[in-house]
Amino acid sequence: MQVMNEEIKNEKVLTLADVKTGEYCVIVRVTGHGGFRHRLMEMGFVRGEKVKVIRNAPLRDPIEYEIMQGHVSLRRVEAQRVEVVPVTEEVANSYSFHGTVTEETERILGHHGKRIHVALVGNPNCGKTSFFNHATGMREKVGNYSGVTVDSKVGYYHYQDYTIMIADLPGTYSLTEYTPEERYVREYIMEQRPDIVLDVVDASNLERNLFLTTQLIDMNVPMVMALNMYDELQKNGDQLDIDTLSELFGFPIIPTVSSRGTGIDEVMAKIVDLYENLEEHTKHIHINYGTDLEKSIDIIKEDMVEHLDLSGAYSTRYLAIELLAGDKMVSELVSKYDDDGSVIKVAEEQRKQIEKQYNEDAATIVSGAKYGFVRGALLETFTRGKDRDQQPAYSADKILTNRWLGFPILIFFLWFMFQMTFTIGAYPQAWLESFFGWLGDVTTRVLPDGILKDLLVDGIIAGVGGVCSFLPNILILFFFISILEDTGYMARAAFIMDKLMHRMGLHGKSFIPYIIGFGCSVPAIMATRTLENRKDRILTILTVPFMSCSARLPVYLLLISAFFTKHQGLILTSIYLFGVVMAIITSLLVKKVAFKQERDQFVMELPPYRIPTFRNAMIHMWDKSVQYLKKMGTVILVATVIIWALEYFPHTGPEVDRYTAQIERVGADTTLTEVQRTEQIKQLELDRSACQIENSYIGRFGRFVAPVFRPLGFDWQMGVSLITGFAAKEIVVSSMGVLYHSDLEADEHSSALQKSLQTHTWSSGPDIGKPVFTPAVAYGFMIFILLYFPCVAALSAIHREAGRRWMLFNLFYTTGVAWLAAFVVHLVFG
Ligand code: GDP
Ligand code: MG
Repeated sequence: MQVMNEEIKNEKVLTLADVKTGEYCVIVRVTGHGGFRHRLMEMGFVRGEKVKVIRNAPLRDPIEYEIMQGHVSLRRVEAQRVEVVPVTEEVANSYSFHGTVTEETERILGHHGKRIHVALVGNPNCGKTSFFNHATGMREKVGNYSGVTVDSKVGYYHYQDYTIMIADLPGTYSLTEYTPEERYVREYIMEQRPDIVLDVVDASNLERNLFLTTQLIDMNVPMVMALNMYDELQKNGDQLDIDTLSELFGFPIIPTVSSRGTGIDEVMAKIVDLYENLEEHTKHIHINYGTDLEKSIDIIKEDMVEHLDLSGAYSTRYLAIELLAGDKMVSELVSKYDDDGSVIKVAEEQRKQIEKQYNEDAATIVSGAKYGFVRGALLETFTRGKDRDQQPAYSADKILTNRWLGFPILIFFLWFMFQMTFTIGAYPQAWLESFFGWLGDVTTRVLPDGILKDLLVDGIIAGVGGVCSFLPNILILFFFISILEDTGYMARAAFIMDKLMHRMGLHGKSFIPYIIGFGCSVPAIMATRTLENRKDRILTILTVPFMSCSARLPVYLLLISAFFTKHQGLILTSIYLFGVVMAIITSLLVKKVAFKQERDQFVMELPPYRIPTFRNAMIHMWDKSVQYLKKMGTVILVATVIIWALEYFPHTGPEVDRYTAQIERVGADTTLTEVQRTEQIKQLELDRSACQIENSYIGRFGRFVAPVFRPLGFDWQMGVSLITGFAAKEIVVSSMGVLYHSDLEADEHSSALQKSLQTHTWSSGPDIGKPVFTPAVAYGFMIFILLYFPCVAALSAIHREAGRRWMLFNLFYTTGVAWLAAFVVHLVFG
């Protein structure tokens, strides 16, 4: 028996690269790392599929194939990873493959591909050798101490007509390079490329054992887990939700007691299923190393893709992680492919930067994140027996993620954060406002009257100044968010929120983007990158704009103080809550319509608690703010100028001229006192600018679209203000300032504007003479502001992260919802 198997093992394996032009073959299997195999399988290279070689000349690259009636080309190195059985043209013509392996397929493939190479990997003393002995009937020595197995032993297990070749590898706690065992196991996995790695785990010591599992996940190898010592787990009274854990990890997990041989057949059956791609619930997951590390990993990976020709032999993500952690072996391996050493250089830079930022060894940071992943997975699935203790390093989790205390603590932190943002932020905000007011005054005095002065004072300084004054709030909010993230608390918050978020069809991790969204949607949309699943990402991206961003706040403040004397705080809160409710409804709706089948669970990493450093918090705050600053420097500036120009031109007209003449007349009228004269002139000037705006392009456009807003009780000025918010929500208030012709003096700006809003009346239509703004209209207007289309910057972020279709959907959906909601408000309260 042994001999026959050895024969099979030594038989020369044909690959696609060996098949000549015009010949046919049937695929046995695709080797190489998971991502590569997946890509080839998507192109149709699956076991049992037939392939015709269209063109394969020696030294020619790529080679062209016909598969599933289509032509594809593979590079030679890639074709070498596809094992095949050659068939004659006759056989090929009579054989057709429809996605599942049939008897005919079996006949053609014969014994090829019925040989599965499995490697046992696990901690010392987790029961690998016991498993091996039971499976193969061999008698390797088992012992209750490490180091019994010094190299690999190979044995065979027969299952149906498969021959499973099992290699018992030395036990290791990790797959780094510090001990000979570790190096041996890692090299075995990377160079021998077993078809499947059987991860043997000691269930009575999960935390430590799963650390090794995280390294296998990084390596992206096909895996099955034997949850060994399951008897010990039960004896300890621990409970583990194996199904959920398996779903989180993305590979099958089978409980075993290998000293008694329990579970071995089930493990083998799973191995065969996985090998034959019959295992449905497998997926490749990524361990999330946190924003900073992930960014570095991406940079290294990109450089690798650009400069190295690895041709599917290794997972680039794995190599990038190991390079970042400063692993020498991987570094040597990569050097072999890296002619000019650029990848190594980039990796080195990234590592130095990370180490400087965290003031810690990169390898330690990486393993910290791995433990965070394990912690998160276990917190969701594992309940310890009564008498056993928690790990002291995470004892704070006992309180912070406690079922009863978690929520109040979270709410307190959030309240505190927002409170600080607005109380501390009020000071710099006031300084900035008076600075821009002063700047406007000086410019007015220095420059001669004319178009340039109007552009600078009323356009740029007023517009950008208004926007700038929110900068401190945003910076402070981001600073607090960064601190919460850096300590590791945000991950706990996501954890606490997970159950609730699942009800909305979302994931706990979406919670963090939502919180950031109260500051600004743009960095919030970027923050959804930590969500692994596309469904979760899209849902979060689409609903983040309903979290009322800080740019909308000034509108609320203006209207609430003008039209509500009582319960002001309550009204403001109700608007924010309304946004949250709309987000929930939208998420449920979109999920129902667009993502019916998708059901996925992911590990929520619980990184170790860290003391945040000021430096890091500043760096992270800066990262989040850069987008916002860019928006101010570009979009807002340009939009301000455009809006100003649309309001400014045409600048004269018969009616405007009439006002000008009237002003001159009043100025020359000696029957009036000095005070009366200035008063009248001031009024006439305001009326003139109102008349001028009404006559301007934006005014004409406003009246053109006014019918759309009329059912909501909005006049054309409100409509125009809303439209100008497309550039940035901050602009809405300054547009209203101009359109309701109140004084634009910075310090009494809002009170003057409030007064003009309160006294503004309909100048035409059925309600002529009645005030435009009632509390109901003001409330509807605020709801509209809350819900309608996000600003250009947010839309372009949605475009970038989710694609054009979702961006357009968001644009129309939010506006439609805003209109409906404001309409209902008007109908009910108006
Ligand atoms: P290895 O170092 O991973 O090869 O582990 P061994 O197979 O040498 O096993 C180490 C010790 O654990 C031995 O004393 C085994 O009898 C014992 N053992 C293995 N599997 C189990 C199991 O499932 N349950 C229990 N209770 N003991 C086991
Ligand atoms: Mg052993």
